[in-house]
Amino acid sequence: MRHKNFRRIINPPIFLKKTWTRVSFVLIMHDSMIEMVHVVKTYPSQISALSDITLEISSGEFTFVVGPSGSGKSTLLRILCGAEKPTGGEVVVDGVQITHPGFRKIHQLRRRMGIVSQDFKLLRDRTVNENVAFALEVTGHTRREAKSKASDILRRIGLEEREDAPILALSAGEQQRAAIARAVVNSPSLILADEPTGNLDAKTTLDVMGIFSDLNHQGATIVFATQFTGLIKRFPYRVIHILDGQVSNGKKVDTDEVREVKAGG
Ligand code: ADP
Repeated sequence: MRHKNFRRIINPPIFLKKTWTRVSFVLIMHDSMIEMVHVVKTYPSQISALSDITLEISSGEFTFVVGPSGSGKSTLLRILCGAEKPTGGEVVVDGVQITHPGFRKIHQLRRRMGIVSQDFKLLRDRTVNENVAFALEVTGHTRREAKSKASDILRRIGLEEREDAPILALSAGEQQRAAIARAVVNSPSLILADEPTGNLDAKTTLDVMGIFSDLNHQGATIVFATQFTGLIKRFPYRVIHILDGQVSNGKKVDTDEVREVKAGG
């Protein structure tokens, strides 16, 4: 974790000084996509949603966050995308300490994120293609480019025949897929998905998992919150269990030290 590595940088054995500093720096800069240290969230109603979360997710990792309804999954994801501020603790996303009191650039960071929330947040008065293309237009693509890229991703997600339909004409499962298409059309380096397959039938769930797996193979870090333990049995990804706002296995086995000693020696 960051604070431990800092200590190593400040006080390395003299004969390894240069190598340790360089190696530690590389690990800090490239290994972690997400670090949460002693994160607490208490809502104004005094409901404790997260009581003490310390976890680390590496760049390029696919991680399920699994726990029953009310265990804190959505709160955790909302903190990671800056939609909610924690009451205490430190959060670093893609090298940026978003809990720093002076941090104001969440919108820049969000451009590198794809967010699938439970309430879809689709634009009700637009077509399916326009909803997806909108995510590209706001990041500077021309309308024509955006429309064409939106068509590509809608084809991949099996909605090509619905792309000109008004979004409200779609079923809940189709809207869910449109929301996923919109979240991933920018090829984000971090995808935060809150129960993205909750409304989908078994076949569409597998299609959507295939899309997330492809994006992960292309390098995206994926945090996938779900209460359905069936998924974690089927897919061989890391699982962080959350219960009553606490995780039991958020820290990874610390192989850094072994790698550092090897590299340094
Ligand atoms: P999950 O996503 O696992 O269902 P949540 O993060 O939504 O869990 O909720 C965790 C706890 O925080 C629950 O007790 C929930 O009622 C409470 N909670 C969530 N959002 C709010 C909110 N905006 N205001 C007050 N309490 C909330």
